[in-house]
Amino acid sequence: MIVILGGGPAGRLASIRLASAGKEVLLVEQGGIKGIGGQCLHSGCMPVCALNDIARLIHAARELKDLGVVDTVPAPDFPVLLTRMGEIQQKIASILDEETRSAGVEIMYGRTGRLAGRTVWAGDEQLKAESVIAATGSRPFMPEIPGAGLPGVITSGTLPAMKELPEKMAIIGGSVVAAEFAYIFSTFGCDVTILSRSTFLKDTDRHIRALAIKELEGVTIRENTPVTSIGGKERASSVLTPDGELEADAVFLAAGLVPNSGSLEGLKKGAHGEVVVDNRMRTSVAEVYACGDVVGPPYLTPVARHQGIVAADNILGIPRTIDYRNIPRSISLTHELASCINETDGMGSLVIPGPAGPGSFWSVPRGKTGLSKVIFDPESGELAGICAAGPGGGLIAGYMAFLMKKHFSVHDFEEFIEVHPSTDGVYGLAKYASSVLKKRNKK
Ligand SMILES: Cc1cc2nc3c(=O)[nH]c(=O)nc-3n(C[C@H](O)[C@H](O)[C@H](O)COP(=O)(O)OP(=O)(O)OC[C@H]3O[C@@H](n4cnc5c(N)ncnc54)[C@H](O)[C@@H]3O)c2cc1C
Repeated sequence: MIVILGGGPAGRLASIRLASAGKEVLLVEQGGIKGIGGQCLHSGCMPVCALNDIARLIHAARELKDLGVVDTVPAPDFPVLLTRMGEIQQKIASILDEETRSAGVEIMYGRTGRLAGRTVWAGDEQLKAESVIAATGSRPFMPEIPGAGLPGVITSGTLPAMKELPEKMAIIGGSVVAAEFAYIFSTFGCDVTILSRSTFLKDTDRHIRALAIKELEGVTIRENTPVTSIGGKERASSVLTPDGELEADAVFLAAGLVPNSGSLEGLKKGAHGEVVVDNRMRTSVAEVYACGDVVGPPYLTPVARHQGIVAADNILGIPRTIDYRNIPRSISLTHELASCINETDGMGSLVIPGPAGPGSFWSVPRGKTGLSKVIFDPESGELAGICAAGPGGGLIAGYMAFLMKKHFSVHDFEEFIEVHPSTDGVYGLAKYASSVLKKRNKK
């Protein structure tokens, strides 16, 4: 039998792959049936997606009202929104449960899995396993700030505890998650301040970062501002920084994620508790594999899923390695600010504001139609990166990432016919880059 700990994207995909290949598979998920789907479904991608859908609707209505084309702007009913979101999450969880079981996986809910080297338990029960996969995911990092335990201090994991919209929200962190929640809550009408210990979105392409800041126009962003404590008697009411005190009736901790590896003993781990694996997802212990967020960044669902498949295939005797190049990512604000960047040093690049089309046409007066960017090798024209910020940006970045993996160059786009109107800037830029390079190389 193969035992998998954790029913998030990594563990679930690995379990389905193994069961479909005829293996006996037991998936141990510490949450109830509510747990299947992991952080992605319950406190990560899906809640951001659900709340962002509403925020974009409100945002669009506001812009259209300013232009005089509609006369009302909807307001969110936050408690109802959370209830409906929870119902839909449960529906998706039951679909995932059914899909996993029908692939032949046995699921054990409500038990915490534990590992000591090769020995594996589900609760108090020791299990016999020929191979084990640890896919226990990650959780929000809790910075050691005095007051972090006060009611009114939330993370993405405890968001449903926030029953009402606060008036003033302080978001601690400078990451994508901080940006996404800032957009949501400021669009919902909260007065939001981001307090970033260093540069806001510091690992993001500079054009995408500038656009994100533009799309967060209602949010105060304070960089290089560490929070030293959270004030309040019965609940959080302020945050303290070296620059002074800031009132806040909700404090959102978005200070990153940490691997859930406390229950995994005897495996080699890194400085942040991430389980160390090789490119086949093998840990330091024979026949014990690990995948997903528990092995550390980039903390992305598609990467977690892919790692799960790689682990499963290696257990099945199909040698397979993981390649971390060409990983697309996105920041969900008014638009999808998507990108896939491999290389910038010594590369050529072209950038234009996103052309107006469906989903951004009415943003023209405000100059908020997104952007397109291509980065390419100036000699060969091979694509080294793209940014597609606009409606459908995530879709474009995913496909472009795949073409980059296949070593496509800007010249390959000469034959490409795009859909118009759409967020088609990257294709046009690639064609233009091709003509520029050809002209230059003729000289
Ligand atoms: C706010 C937020 C937004 C995000 N947005 C995106 C996004 O837009 N796009 C994207 O690609 N990624 C996003 N992510 C990241 C994404 O959610 C994770 O990368 C993904 O969920 C990782 O999957 P996983 O299976 O490794 O772990 P998890 O999803 O964390 O699942 C791990 C599972 O293991 C279970 N478990 C833990 N310990 C044990 C144990 N000892 N025994 C048994 N079960 C255990 C947990 O209950 C959980 O169900 C977001 C994350 C957050 C926090």
